[in-house]
Amino acid sequence: MPIEAVIFDWGGTLTPWHAIDLEQQWQAFARVYAAADAERFPDGGQELADRMRAAEREGWGRLKESGGSARLTDVFEAVGVSTDHPGHDAAHAAYEEFWEPHTYLDPDVPELFAGLRERGIRIGVLSNTIWSRQYHRRLFERDGVLEFIDGDVYSSEIPYVKPHPEAFAAAVRAVGDPDPAACVYVGDRVYEDVHGAQRAGLRAVHIPNSDIPVDQQIPVDVTPDGTAPRLLDVLDLVDGWR
Ligand SMILES: [Mg+2]
Repeated sequence: MPIEAVIFDWGGTLTPWHAIDLEQQWQAFARVYAAADAERFPDGGQELADRMRAAEREGWGRLKESGGSARLTDVFEAVGVSTDHPGHDAAHAAYEEFWEPHTYLDPDVPELFAGLRERGIRIGVLSNTIWSRQYHRRLFERDGVLEFIDGDVYSSEIPYVKPHPEAFAAAVRAVGDPDPAACVYVGDRVYEDVHGAQRAGLRAVHIPNSDIPVDQQIPVDVTPDGTAPRLLDVLDLVDGWR
């Protein structure tokens, strides 16, 4: 069956893997939030940062338990952070600034997307993320590839995360609803991406470059349909299947 669409994971796939201290993202937020409210946060926000980290962990924990998704606003709600708070907007900006260096695309992406489009293949994105669609699309726009994306689904806007079959079904619908067997999914996580895509009837290409923490790995016995040490290798794999 000819390939009609290639759908990509974001973190560790379209963006290269970075090892990140996940405590620091919440410290960046909480420090600024607390500075606007020193009476309520005499410790400068450290305790708030700890609670935000715990709430985030709980959100991702749902992935293993029920496959349910989480969003940044759930973290805010869980710890009593209000978007009306005088420190909120600046804190959110500090949080995004913390992440900014880790959001840039792999340099292969523009050539890869152009190559897929030349072949008449639609391009999709399916990401497990607590961030909003607007935020992700702003990053794609900054890096000049937003116009190539035919359909994108973020788990923050649906009830499920990968590897739930409904997450993949939503992504397939977003790229025009081809037969899943005519779709390829490209991702760096064996359980969420390779196992999830294959179970939903797609081909799966594994990006083997991410140093995923052991506590985030879920053992599963699967063999990807292809492996792409470089993102551009995806074009060769797709050509081989045409
Ligand atoms: Mg990933």
